[in-house]
Amino acid sequence: MSLPQIARVALDVPLRRLFDYRVADGELLSAGDIGYRVRVPFGRHEKIGILVELPAGSDLPLAQLKLLGELLRDLPPLPADWFRLTEFCAAYYHVPLGQVMLSTLPVGLRALKPVKARAPRQVPPAAAVAAPELTGEQQAVLTSIAELGAGFHAYLLHGVTGSGKTEVYLRLIERALADGQQSLLLVPEINLTPQLEGRVAARFPGAGLVSLHSELGEAARSRNWCAALTGEARIVLGTRLAIFAPLPELGLIVVDEEHDASFKQQDGIRYSARDLAVFRARQRDIKIVLGSATPSLESWANATVDAGRGRYRLLTLSERAVEGARLPSVRRIDTRLDKPQDGLSSALLGAVEERLRRGEQSLLFLNRRGYAPVLACAACGWTSNCHRCAANLVLHLVDRRLRCHHCGFEAHLPKGCPSCGNQDLSAFGRGTQRLEAVLAEHFPQARVLRVDRDAARSRKQWEALVARIHSGEADILVGTQMLAKGHDFPKLTLVGAISPDAALFAADWRAPERLFAQLMQVAGRAGRAARAGEFLIQTQFPEHPLYAALVQHDFPAFAAEQLAERQQAGFPPYAHQAMLRAEAPLMADALSFLKSARACPAVGAEQAVTFYDPVPMRLARRASFERGQLLVESPARRALQRFLADWLPQLEAIKVPSRLRWHLEVDPLEF
Ligand code: ADP
Ligand code: ZN
Ligand code: ZN
Repeated sequence: MSLPQIARVALDVPLRRLFDYRVADGELLSAGDIGYRVRVPFGRHEKIGILVELPAGSDLPLAQLKLLGELLRDLPPLPADWFRLTEFCAAYYHVPLGQVMLSTLPVGLRALKPVKARAPRQVPPAAAVAAPELTGEQQAVLTSIAELGAGFHAYLLHGVTGSGKTEVYLRLIERALADGQQSLLLVPEINLTPQLEGRVAARFPGAGLVSLHSELGEAARSRNWCAALTGEARIVLGTRLAIFAPLPELGLIVVDEEHDASFKQQDGIRYSARDLAVFRARQRDIKIVLGSATPSLESWANATVDAGRGRYRLLTLSERAVEGARLPSVRRIDTRLDKPQDGLSSALLGAVEERLRRGEQSLLFLNRRGYAPVLACAACGWTSNCHRCAANLVLHLVDRRLRCHHCGFEAHLPKGCPSCGNQDLSAFGRGTQRLEAVLAEHFPQARVLRVDRDAARSRKQWEALVARIHSGEADILVGTQMLAKGHDFPKLTLVGAISPDAALFAADWRAPERLFAQLMQVAGRAGRAARAGEFLIQTQFPEHPLYAALVQHDFPAFAAEQLAERQQAGFPPYAHQAMLRAEAPLMADALSFLKSARACPAVGAEQAVTFYDPVPMRLARRASFERGQLLVESPARRALQRFLADWLPQLEAIKVPSRLRWHLEVDPLEF
């Protein structure tokens, strides 16, 4: 009698292991079956899993193994390189493999039934913009890329706003299509608009373009994902989750706006799609292009400091692509001399007025929505606090509500002070709604349009707003960072930053990097067409080096200064970090867990790893949970990884109160 065959299966369960099953007598699976989805009994239920291996034997006695269920051969098996990608993701971010594999499948493929494979709906092309003749710089960039030939090469394309990076991507995709390869183009969530999809579709009509993002309906997402797997889709345009699309003939990866924080998933599996993209390109031995006007300092260091060690090759587009279009002139308004009234200096008011006279648009940038960040009573000192978070309730005057921006709690605007009854409550500080009101008062003849997450709650509303701006239905825009990205508004010639100073001295050492990127992006909205643009910054610190670099449009100078500071302080990219976070109804419980974590036997075994003290997080309470964090750091990525692999099983063995939750984040961006 021959021994039964063993099948090893990945399942979506929070355990760091795979599961063995017995293959029914008379059925024989082969290596070609690896990568199919499979139904298996689990506990008292049936689950869907992925067949990952046909091992010679099992660690468990045969009698304990349950019988493997039906293998779903409705789609081609998941390809080998998809396995390597998910395995790397699981190992690097220390998440169980089965969770990575199953939770990155579209919902339709996690059902116990086979999928009905229907053809994907193609993205409708925009009115054709025939391919323009390349500028000299674009041509040089493409030549450099072609020069290195096939195989793994990582390029950092540093191109100022409007320099024609997208055109470079399109030419690379064209090449890949001609070579019979699939392309993956990743963009930040907010940049994935019908305009961009239409632009790509128009260039490659009928080439099989599909999109993948979180706002697609489940059916469409399954359909598009399946088209990627079958090879029907030749171009996949998507947000971070698209990094997990199986692409058997992948030949090119592009990550646009590679510095954008939305490439990092902030819950569940906390992966960086940008970093996974580089891994994926290396193991597939293909090229990857990371593009940005303000690259992340990690990528910048790879392309400048470490370039000699075979990291990234730096490519530059220093001028705008459209003939005659120049970068905006940047001017600092010293608010110690020109004191703002209601947030607006006379220089900025004058500049807006001039635009109104000329029939051009202005954009005022203020990265805080709502009317005012807090409501307070001068009589008794009451302030509008969220009772669930260590934060203020923000005053939203448009719908007369108080709102917590951290947990979503809402309340009616009180008629008087809830504590002493005083009728005269005051709004402190300034948000977009207040700025909008002030502008309407100053310029009664102007049409003021506010663009923030309250005005654009859905993708549809957002697109409607963009269309209104395009058609010239607004004279003055008041916007948060939503408006900073990716949009060309030909009549927009003035951008003003209302109060950017706070980020200069924020406790988060990444704040200046984010501020610089934001200001550079928002400045880039001005003067995209033939009209020159102007960018005004209201500041009390006009001499600050960050602003000095902005005036010169000098990202390299800013990056060099920041990298020197980081090197001295031992911050990334000169150190590698992981953050353990815990939350519980009581801070004492959260911190006590972190202290136990700090006392695990693994700690101390790896000499190259240092520990900070467990501390409350900056937002110490959110949604009624108190939150603490423990930062772990090492100059060597490998040492940190080795340590984490030893540490996690020990963390999982710590007994915790029932309402305590914890997670580990590798390469954390937010502190
Ligand atoms: P980026 O992605 O660098 O911000 P885009 O690719 O969106 O820049 O290009 C900015 C503008 O320049 C677009 O309107 C685009 O159509 C135009 N453009 C790009 N390349 C060229 C070119 N070679 N000749 C003329 N116009 C171009
Ligand atoms: Zn009061
Ligand atoms: Zn709250």
